[in-house]
Parts: sequence; C-alpha cells; structure tokens
Amino acid sequence: MSATKEVTSRVQVIQDVIDYVEEKDQGQPEFHQAVREVLTTLEPTVAKHPEYVKAKIYHRIVVPDRVIMFRVPWVNDKGEVQVNRGFRVQFNNAIGPYKGGLRLHPSVNLGIIKFLGFEQVFKNSLTTLPMGGGKGGSDFDPKGKSDDEVMRFCQAFMSELYRHIGPDTDVPAGDIGVGGREIGYLYGYYKKIVNEHTAVLTGRGLEYGGSLIRPEATGYGAVYFAAEMLATRKQSLEGKRCVVSGKGNVTQYTIEKVNHMGGKAISISDSSGTIIDEEGIDSKKLAWVMELENVRRGRVKEYAEKFKSAKFYADKSVWEVIKDHNLKFDCAFPSATQNEINGDYASAMVKNGCYLVSEGANMPSNLDAIKVYQENNVLYGPAKAANAGGVATSGLEMSQGSMRLSWSREEVDDRLHGIMKSIHKTCLEAAETYGKPGDYLMGANIGGFIKVANAMMAYGIV
Ligand code: NAP
Repeated sequence: MSATKEVTSRVQVIQDVIDYVEEKDQGQPEFHQAVREVLTTLEPTVAKHPEYVKAKIYHRIVVPDRVIMFRVPWVNDKGEVQVNRGFRVQFNNAIGPYKGGLRLHPSVNLGIIKFLGFEQVFKNSLTTLPMGGGKGGSDFDPKGKSDDEVMRFCQAFMSELYRHIGPDTDVPAGDIGVGGREIGYLYGYYKKIVNEHTAVLTGRGLEYGGSLIRPEATGYGAVYFAAEMLATRKQSLEGKRCVVSGKGNVTQYTIEKVNHMGGKAISISDSSGTIIDEEGIDSKKLAWVMELENVRRGRVKEYAEKFKSAKFYADKSVWEVIKDHNLKFDCAFPSATQNEINGDYASAMVKNGCYLVSEGANMPSNLDAIKVYQENNVLYGPAKAANAGGVATSGLEMSQGSMRLSWSREEVDDRLHGIMKSIHKTCLEAAETYGKPGDYLMGANIGGFIKVANAMMAYGIV
C-alpha cells in the first residue's frame, strides 16, 4: 500500500469509530470529546496492529461492558422525599476489577460518567497496577446539605450499588463531592448490608482499612509528574509561580507539594470565584483553606477577608482572571473540573508565560486548548497520566487491604513517586515508538491502550 493510502485507511478506521459513537451515543458531548481525544492519538497503532482492526478492538473499547442506572430516593431534614439518579458505568475489566471514583454533583449525567469511565480505563492501565476502568455517581448536590442528609443519601445510593460491586468485581472511590465523610457513610452501609469487611471502597479512613497518603496522592502525583516533565528541560519547580484551580482535595495537596518542591502557589477557586494571593499560599494559609473546605464547607471569598495579601474575583475562573488581568506565571495545575480551559484561555496562559500544564482534574482542557499547548511547545501532562497518582494509591490501598497490613507514609509515598516516574517514562517511550517524541498526550493514550488491547485480544471475542 502507498504511504498516502495507508494513512488514509488508518484515519478511516478511527473516524468510523468516532462516527459510530456520535451516532449511537447521542446527547453525550463529553463522552464524544473524550473518545475523539483518545482515538485520534491512537491512529499510529492501527498500522502497527492490523490484528486489533480485525478483532474490532477500536469499536469494542468505546462500548462499556455495562451501564447501571438507578433511582435514589431519600428524605431531607424537612421530611420531604427527594429523588436523584444514580449511575455506575463498568467500562472495561480486561486487566483487573473495575476501579474509579464516584462523583456527586448536580451536573452529573450518563455522558459525563461515561467520559470519566472511558478515560479511567487508560489511566488505570498506565499505573502498572491490575485495575480495569469504571466510574459512577449521582446528580445529588452535597452543597448546603446537613451531615444527616448526606448520610441518608449515601445509604440510599449504596442500597442499590452494593449488589454491583465487590473487592474482585468493582471498587469505587471518591471524586468531586465524595471525600472522607461520604466514603465513611457509603462503606458503613455496605458493611452493614453485606456483612463483610473488605477492600470494596478506597479512600477509607485509616481506622477502617484506608491507606496513608491516599488523600494526598492525586495532588502529589500531579506535582511529581510536573517535576519529571520539567527535568526533561533541565528545570525544577524551585521558584516557579504556579496557578492552581479549585479548592478541593486535588487542589489542596497540589499546593502542599508545590510548596515542598520550592514553588509558589498563588491561586485557589470554586464555583463562586477566584482568589489570587501574590504572596503565595504557604502552609499556614493552606491549613486554613483545608478547614474552610473540609470542615466548615465555606466559600472561597472568605480567604480574601482573612488574608489581606489576597484579591477575590467574584464569578471568575482562574483562567478568566489570567486573561483579563495578564497575570504572569510559569506552571498551571487545573484541578477543579472538566472543560475549565478553552482555546482562548490557553492562548492567554501562553501569552502570560505559562510553559507547563499538569492536569489534576479530568479533561480540564478542551481540544482547542490542547492544540494551543501543542503549538506553543508547552509541557502538557494530560489528566490520565498526571492525575493517575490517586487511583494508583487506591490500588496500593487495595493491596494493603488484601494483605491485611498497612505500609508507612514513606513507603506509600515512595511507591507513588516511583509510579509517577514510571508513567512519565511510559508516555515518553510510547510517544517515541509511535513517531511523536515528547508528545505526552499521544504517549499516555497509546501507553495505556496497548496493554488493555493485548488483554482483550487474549480473551478472544467476549
Ligand atoms: P472536590 O474535592 O469535590 O473539589 C472540587 C473543586 O472544584 C471544588 O472547589 C469545586 O467548587 C470545584 N468545581 C467542581 N465543579 C465545578 C464547576 N462545574 N465549576 C467550577 N468549579 C467547580 O473534588 P476533587 O476530588 O478535588 O476533584 C477535582 C478534579 O480532580 C475532578 O475533575 C476529579 O475528577 C479529578 N480527580 C480527582 C481525584 C481524587 O483522588 N480526588 C483523582 C483523579 C482525578 P465548588 O465547591 O464551588 O463546587
């Protein structure tokens, strides 16, 4: 086959799958976006692996093994009946039990859970641990709810979910809106109705099967990944001005690790606005943010009332503030939610000096933003590589649970650091092998895909 014909046919194989998803899974734009982002970077694998094309691996990998949707009825503090939608998408268990978080946020719908589950398949494969991909959640909004209401919701959610999960079947964890409190309520109810104390949820408290470093892992991992990318240019985080979005779990430990590594984190945000603190968010201020978010569950504006070095921008995202006020900085850690950064914001980031993006959140940059990073030689760590430290440490929690022992803080952190280095190496090697040296996006997607595809090939047509 001539070179042009070969390229045309491999592009066609991929385009057929994208068309198939867009036709069959209508009304799921985030899922379409994730499929397009992953599959277009898999084009070079088509020519090298005709056996995948014959076995329709590309078509099979975009269809979840199973989608579970259910009603979650519960009663609020006023005695009124509430009804939410529950989801668990068990996407692919070729290399291990389904594994992926639960999200509680009013924006949750089937398309969002499918995009997250699809990405999780490749991310989990990259961690080197035996975990398949899944994701779940509900359109329940924990904001403004009492502890009792959150507990009643979690119990109602688990009263259906329990029959679909298990330590060797599917092991959920936290995500947006699901932290230590929610995992406690979910696990407590599972334990009661199944009468088993097993590693069926991760992110558990230390007293009942959790792992040290699990709360820190996603943020720490995103910073370790950034440090690896910087090292390829003989640089470090020392003295770098870093912007971080969100103020939740990933944000908090990203800031902590940026500070450990000598950088200066200057921002936090939530859906009500953004804080810029030019003096930096040091450990004392960070402890205050943790109390605000994790205990008082307050809004970001209070930071500017407490610390005079800070400025509050109401109803603006970090990325809007950078664009509107020409805020200069070096490294970005988007850590709030999907599609925070569009092409315009990405251009403003580059214009203001940004040369590294390490994604703590899932799919925070849309396809236009990624194009801007690539055209401007930005070190771009895509979510499925940069934020894989969270699920990797969940995998370590599962191992400790099965062995019924606990590793020290240092041991888990060393393993996490080693896994992030290994993911970075896998990305670089896969990008090189498939003809795009230095392209972390392609490297992460191909590096994650090959292992899953080979396992699927081994099973025959199932
Ligand atoms: P979290 O603790 O619930 O914090 C989420 C933060 O993002 C909050 O400050 C929230 O502000 C903000 N946010 C959420 N949705 C938003 C929206 N639509 N618009 C503006 N702000 C929004 O969640 P998290 O665990 O840190 O997760 C953050 C991101 O990291 C998500 O993309 C998640 O999928 C990803 N991630 C998390 C983990 C993990 O281990 N936790 C692992 C891998 C990836 P409000 O309070 O105002 O909503």
